[in-house]
Order: sequence, then C-alpha cells, then structure tokens
Amino acid sequence: MLLTISTTHRPATDLGYLLHKHPDRVQEFAQSFGTATVLYPEASEERCTAALLLEVDPVRLARRRGRETPDFSLAQYVNDRSYAASSLLGVALADVFSTARSGICKARPELAEQALPLEIAIPVLPCRGGAEIARRLFEPLGWRVDAEPIPLDEGFPAWGASRYLRLTLHGELRLADALSQLHVLLPVLDESKHYWQGPDEVDKLLRSGGAWLAAHPDRTLITRRYLGRRGGLTRLALARLAELDDTELDDTGPDAEVGEEEVLQPEERRVPLNRQRHEAVLAAIAELGARSVIDLGCGPGQLLDRLLKAPGIERVAGCDVSTRSLQYAARRLHVDRMSERQAGRLELFQGALTYEDPRFAGYDVAVLMEVVEHVDPPRLPALERVVFGAARPGAVLVTTPNRDYNVLYEGLTGRRHPDHRFEWDRAEFADWCARVAATHGYAVEHRGVGDVDGTHGSPTQLAVFTRKENADD
Ligand code: SAH
Repeated sequence: MLLTISTTHRPATDLGYLLHKHPDRVQEFAQSFGTATVLYPEASEERCTAALLLEVDPVRLARRRGRETPDFSLAQYVNDRSYAASSLLGVALADVFSTARSGICKARPELAEQALPLEIAIPVLPCRGGAEIARRLFEPLGWRVDAEPIPLDEGFPAWGASRYLRLTLHGELRLADALSQLHVLLPVLDESKHYWQGPDEVDKLLRSGGAWLAAHPDRTLITRRYLGRRGGLTRLALARLAELDDTELDDTGPDAEVGEEEVLQPEERRVPLNRQRHEAVLAAIAELGARSVIDLGCGPGQLLDRLLKAPGIERVAGCDVSTRSLQYAARRLHVDRMSERQAGRLELFQGALTYEDPRFAGYDVAVLMEVVEHVDPPRLPALERVVFGAARPGAVLVTTPNRDYNVLYEGLTGRRHPDHRFEWDRAEFADWCARVAATHGYAVEHRGVGDVDGTHGSPTQLAVFTRKENADD
C-alpha cells in the first residue's frame, strides 16, 4: 500500500518540517498490523514528495481482531490488504503523521496554517462506488480529483474495470486538513473498516472531521460508512454533526443503492437542533430590533449567512479564532463574488475573544452561539470582560448545551463534542449569567431551544442579556 504527498511550494523540502520527518532519512514505524515506512523519493527545492508505504502482516492483523470478532475464514489471510490502500492506510497515516495532522509545526508555524499546493497520489485504492464517489467526497473539499479505474486484467479489457482506482488529488489546502480528510475518507472509500470500533470512534470522527465534515454535502454517507454498520454510533455522530451544521440530513444517496441498513430513525428527520438554534437567535435579534450584529466565534458561518438575508439588518460581522473556519465561512458566503454593496455590509475577521479588540465594539447585538463551552474555564473571566465590559453591545445572546439533557442522548458517555471544555447544567449556567449580568450592568432572560423534556429541560440553553440603560456610557 502506497500513498504519496507532494508539494511544489518553495522551498518544497519544507514538507519535511511539516510532516516532522526528515527528507534524508528512511524511517519505519511499527503498527499493530504491520510496518509503515516514510521515505522521500524526491526532495528538491522545486518539488518534494513524501511516500508512506505500509506493509501489512495478515497474520498479525488476524490475531489482533481478538475474540469479539471471531472470523477464521481464509479471507483473513488471503486478501488484497498488502497491495491496496485501505482503511489501514488511513490508520497508519493518522498515527505516523499525528503531529502534522493536528497542525502543529514549531519550525514553520506559518506554513502549517497556510494552504499549500498539494498533490496526493494513491496508486491502488479500493473504492466502493467507483470514481464518482471519489469525486463526490473530495471535490466539495476543494480538490481536483483524477480517478482512473484500474482494469481487472490488462490482458482482457473486455472484463472491465476492477473495484480499484488510481487516485490523484490536486489542491491548495492546509496539510493538516488534507491529512485529516484522508484519515476519514480512506476508510469511507474502502469496503469496510478492519479494526474494532468503540464509542470513541465518534469522537475521533468529529475531531478529524471538524468543520469540513459538518459542512460536507455527503456527511451522512461519510458518517455511515466511517462507522460501519453500527447504527447506534452513526445516529449519535449524525446528531452531533447536526449540532455543527444546519443542512437537512440527507437520507438518499449511493448507500441506499448498495442496500445498507436504514440507520436514521424518524426523530432525526425533524428540524435539526442547530437549525432551531439559528431560528431562536434570529427571533431574539428581530425582537430586539437590531440593525447590526456581530457573531463572535462564528465558525463556518451558517448564522452569518442567515443574518445577511434577514430583514432590517444592515451590518453583519463574524469573528473567529480559527482561520480555517473563516475560510469556510468566506466560501459559504461567496465573499469572492459578492457585490460591492453586500461586501460593504459584512466584516469577517480573525480574533480571539479573550483579548480586548476595538473591532468587537459598535454593534447592537453580539452573539456567542455555542462558543463559551470551547473556552478554558480560567480564560472565561477574560472573555466576560472583553465582551460585556469592553465591547458592551446593547444585547448579548449566549447559547450553550444543557448538560442536564445529555442523559437523553443514547450512547453519549462524555461531552457532546470533544472540543468542549465543559458543559453547564441549567443551575450552573443560570449562576454564571446572573453573576456576569450583575457585574456588567445587564438584565438576563433565559430561554430554551429544542424539544423540551419535562425533567431535563431543552437541549440548548439560550440567555438574552440586555444592557441596562442607566448602567451605560
Ligand atoms: N457559533 C458557531 C460555531 C460554534 S463552534 C455555531 O454555532 O455554529 C465554536 C467556535 O468558537 C469555533 O469556531 C471556535 O474556533 C471558536 N472559538 C473558540 N474559542 C474562541 C476564542 N477564544 N476566540 C474566538 N473564537 C473562538
């Protein structure tokens, strides 16, 4: 199994820094199912290629499966594992390039944040659904996809194509994004996953998938295939992804064609929670009669999109600490094709909510939608000062998960998202709101978002803070 990553960024050999693997060396990494080797077939100033070679030991792979999945068939020992890129290559890639995947590079920090010209080649890729699926999965992420079916037997063209592709991807992406996408999508393209999946697979998927998966038009297909036939996990992951995006869950697609089991229950087809949250926030903004709104921690920009279309709103701003999220937002809002008038209404900028910033000030309403729980508790007082003390908008809308409600999510053991630093129950949130309001001269009103449970409340909590007239400038 082979996968190569090339760049023509100058100096191309910087790829070695980003991957944390020196271009002059050949390095081996033991995997539980074989050996991964990283080497550089070319490393010049103009072009550099890193190759990940995976040799699978079928005996070790078979032993590793353990007692939970007894399968003594010969297919475990005689199969295509040694030749075809597969889910195992995704696992090895995630392991060998784990630091690069997290986007950390002390030697070249700016480069790790930057989109680079990349070419990824996988000479033999088993691909369920063929070239069309490869395109559907990679093109929305910004890749140019060259997927060439490999004939079953070159000597007998009449036999047609095998289920393998030669896949080449070209694009300008952050290397960390490219690696995360491959980590998720290689097993998705493959027939099946070959390793045990526990509930933490959902966390792994959300960690690697992050914003790009939530915004992907085929996220349902990707999630189902990634988690295999474990419908409970798939449901959980889709519910959690729906928290990140408001696209309707798509229940059609090629999985239906290949006859996979039905995993979505009717309740998941209702209005996704994220959509309900947008509606609640937009309704509050309309009630307040706001003309200018800043979305603090705007993520990939779904709310900004709605705000730009909402009547009566003249100015919209979005800010996030993540440049990647801002890129997604710019793409979603078609900033490059906006009319001058539209562009004049929108401000999109990078900033951290824990540092005072004059750009946060001057809006009627500030929205902090599903943001506070991403901030480390010791940094929260800084955020409170920056938003309520310094920016001081007329109103602040804060939404956050209601931890009381978590017991109703089947299969959820930890927090709703791996990035959450905490999740408040209703009493904790009420305490926080009361203290912040009292300190900074705001009144606070509590609302719930989503279906209310008699005992546990609603899934999302919404607090509407309004500045008290006499407490202000
Ligand atoms: N408001 C969006 C995104 C929520 S995810 C929505 O509801 O869909 C949380 C977002 O907060 C992420 O995009 C993250 O990058 C951003 N974020 C977390 N900490 C931040 C900070 N200190 N400053 C600015 N943005 C932050």
